[in-house]
Amino acid sequence: MPAIETHDLSFSYGHGELKRQVLNKVSLSIKSGEIVIMTGPSGSGKTTLLTILGGLRAATEGSAIVLGNELIGAPEPLRMKVRAQSGYIFQQHNLIPQLTALQNVAMSLELDSSESEAERNRKSADMLKAVGLGERLHYRPQQLSGGQRQRVSIARALVRHPQLVLADEPTASLDKQSGQEAVTVLRNLAREAGATILLVTHDYRILDMADRVITLEDGILK
Ligand code: ADP
Ligand code: MG
Repeated sequence: MPAIETHDLSFSYGHGELKRQVLNKVSLSIKSGEIVIMTGPSGSGKTTLLTILGGLRAATEGSAIVLGNELIGAPEPLRMKVRAQSGYIFQQHNLIPQLTALQNVAMSLELDSSESEAERNRKSADMLKAVGLGERLHYRPQQLSGGQRQRVSIARALVRHPQLVLADEPTASLDKQSGQEAVTVLRNLAREAGATILLVTHDYRILDMADRVITLEDGILK
């Protein structure tokens, strides 16, 4: 079963006179374990597509089956299930400034209340070690560099061992070296876990980490 399979997926913002189509019959298939990079000009619909596939945005036209769940027209609980099974990495790290790296990562485990706090902290510390931040567990975001913050958000996305990772321009605010380090960590951990990655980037320097590169232009998959 593919991790992602869309067929004629279309999406518009607004209604009536203000209606603006941003995705136009996108048909896309991504195999389980595949690492795919999506590029395309600003405004071409990449973030919109990613948020639909991550269950963050409801859509009604066409088909989008993610981890076996049809998301088009799906009720909120089904989208919630897909959100719980996938890890989402935003362009801006989106960490909570008042919390330490460890607390930021542990938060994404709180959804699953079957674990003790000690267990959540242990898993979170292990994941931060895996992204090279074992010495920074108790630092707050503002005490970390941009690259370190993005690695915390990678740890936060991966700590629940998602089958699917969706990353929206994760290196956009980083210098070349930190960007490459962050993405390399993400790729290695995902490969080990057999997870699928769909990563949006304009950064040609990281294209070679992908199995395949796809391009979205004006809402049309090229
Ligand atoms: P990309 O990520 O490729 O830059 P987006 O998916 O963010 O593209 O945006 C695609 C188009 O949809 C843009 O023209 C943008 O202005 C518009 N858009 C994005 N989000 C909204 C929204 N919440 N409401 C209305 N229009 C939006
Ligand atoms: Mg975008």
